[in-house]
Amino acid sequence: MKIAILSRNKKLYSTRRLLEACEQRGHEPIVLDVLRSYMEVVPSKPEVHIKGTILSAFDAVIPRIGASVTFYGTAVLRQFEMMGAFPLNESVAISRSRDKLRSLQLLSRKGVGLPSTGFAHHPDDIPDLIKMVGGAPLVIKLLEGTQGIGVVLAETKKAAESVIEAFMGLKANIMVQEYIKEAGGADIRCLVVGNKVVAAMKRQALPGEFRSNLHRGGSASLIKITPVERATAVNAAKIMGLNVAGVDLLRAERGPLVMEVNSSPGLEGIENATGKDIAGMIVDFIEKNAKPYHTKTRGKG
Ligand code: ADP
Repeated sequence: MKIAILSRNKKLYSTRRLLEACEQRGHEPIVLDVLRSYMEVVPSKPEVHIKGTILSAFDAVIPRIGASVTFYGTAVLRQFEMMGAFPLNESVAISRSRDKLRSLQLLSRKGVGLPSTGFAHHPDDIPDLIKMVGGAPLVIKLLEGTQGIGVVLAETKKAAESVIEAFMGLKANIMVQEYIKEAGGADIRCLVVGNKVVAAMKRQALPGEFRSNLHRGGSASLIKITPVERATAVNAAKIMGLNVAGVDLLRAERGPLVMEVNSSPGLEGIENATGKDIAGMIVDFIEKNAKPYHTKTRGKG
């Protein structure tokens, strides 16, 4: 199959591994930098150009679109969908997953376990916002943050009020969330491919830190997850419409709670922690499922 990997950098671990897995299986993969491609949008003949040449049609596209290029990246992916390529994850599902509020609203609508969460932009009654999610201690998150930056634990009501006021001063969109203390500074990353969790790892924060992000010094290890956790992760990916997803869970007393569903999960941490060939499983999934003009939401917004 002709497979395009949409990625800005060939040297990134995940991109390299996907490229290798395609080659090992006898496919013809290429890595395309979405920001360098350009498109003519005309009725009935969608094309994508790069460096003066028109790209011929692909059988499948593997989007590895970074959060900062979601807008243009999903437009390029949508163009490939209109040309009949099978997207590993559809453009609509990626856009959905990149919007934290939309994602949590969708998941909550379907009854998925979530930490009690409030959204706010410029609330007049901050104490009520804090009360709404059960009071302090609570976690305050900048919506635009990644890798744990902009995620703050406020131990007291006073601290929570000050942080919320500070973020409001920056005109940032924020989320306030019940602190799941019993998670013990750990979360579980479930890698979903198709209808299965193919690998899971536990990320543990450094002592004295509650954020388990590997970028914040967290460490990853293999973990056995329960059937309920497995079902929750698969269900969350399905609700988002993602074939491949990294679903982050917190282990709470009341059961697994979904924190985030990531549409371009990194492969390095999870392949190293589990010793599994996830890139290979992703390409196997494409082989089994790729059909021309088969997206659920082809070309639709
Ligand atoms: P980012 O998307 O920037 O990684 P997250 O929302 O995933 O931010 O939060 C970073 C880390 O903080 C998580 O991996 C988890 O370990 C911890 N964390 C986040 N929210 C909560 C919460 N409500 N309760 C307990 N720990 C949390």
